[in-house]
Amino acid sequence: MADKVAVVTGSNKGIGYATVRELYKRGVKYVYLTARDVQRGQKAIENLKQEGWNPLFHQLDVTDKDSVKIFAEHLKQKHGGIDILINNAAISSSNFTETSYEDSVRVIDANYFSILTIQEYIFPILNDSARVINISSDCGHISNLRNKYWISRLTKEDTKQGDVNAFVNWFLDSVKNGTLDQEDFQEMPLLAYRISKIALCALTRVQQKEVGRNISVNSLHPGFVKTDMTKTTGFITIEEASKAPVYLALDVDQSVKGKYFWYDKTEREWADPNQKLHCTYEVIDKCLRELNQA
Ligand code: NDP
Repeated sequence: MADKVAVVTGSNKGIGYATVRELYKRGVKYVYLTARDVQRGQKAIENLKQEGWNPLFHQLDVTDKDSVKIFAEHLKQKHGGIDILINNAAISSSNFTETSYEDSVRVIDANYFSILTIQEYIFPILNDSARVINISSDCGHISNLRNKYWISRLTKEDTKQGDVNAFVNWFLDSVKNGTLDQEDFQEMPLLAYRISKIALCALTRVQQKEVGRNISVNSLHPGFVKTDMTKTTGFITIEEASKAPVYLALDVDQSVKGKYFWYDKTEREWADPNQKLHCTYEVIDKCLRELNQA
């Protein structure tokens, strides 16, 4: 444990920030707080320093190939490799209830295609038995989808990255061409965000099959958390939400691979559409209304 190296993407605030702190509390020696904006990152570092922690910082914009490449080179040079990678950085749909093409491209770039860039540059420097945690969502459970063709193509045993890419491109083309069919989805609000997180969960399973070297790759729904992403609504704090990613990073058995976890640290069956674990927008909407009235 003492000399482990951990990286948390998008950790200048929210769940990522609390996860950096929790990793330090649990005794990980080198934890990288990363941020796309250096000033926001430095401010977060200062806050943690005031609490007595001494986090490492590096700029990282997950949508910028050069930024990911430079960071990977830095990690390799300084540490040789890393032990824990928490892919936390993400954005939500700008408008929760309307889906535009430009916004969908933005969301899917940030939440899905960025993970392919990280896979390209950071996976090669994962140490043997490293752990990767892809922060997904209940929006990423397969039950958010109704389209039987895509459910089957994403959940089969031999799903490949090409299948997942085809899925997000099918969605983007449908939005662009105005052929989006409501019947294909459980709910329409936050649709691009849902697609990006379903793709991330499907990719987690593909990554697990291909990564080797006893590395584990799991995905996680961190709960409905009070952060900027949820406009400060939610049922749990960032401190509470940081426990499950750290559990997957440090505590769960190394044999747990390619699974989907819930914020209470229980494993859920991602590939079963009958589980009905999809995100219910009514709940978010109710919280937003209450907040606006307060
Ligand atoms: P926040 O919006 O509070 O934080 C998101 C973080 O990601 C910020 O640090 C943000 O940086 C960073 N980020 C966004 N885009 C990029 C990028 N291109 N490169 C690097 N960093 C980036 O969100 P949360 O803490 O709520 O969310 C954390 C994770 O949890 C996400 O993956 C989210 O999808 C997931 N999640 C959250 C839920 C919730 O209820 N909050 C529910 C389910 C899942 P900046 O400050 O520069 O914008």
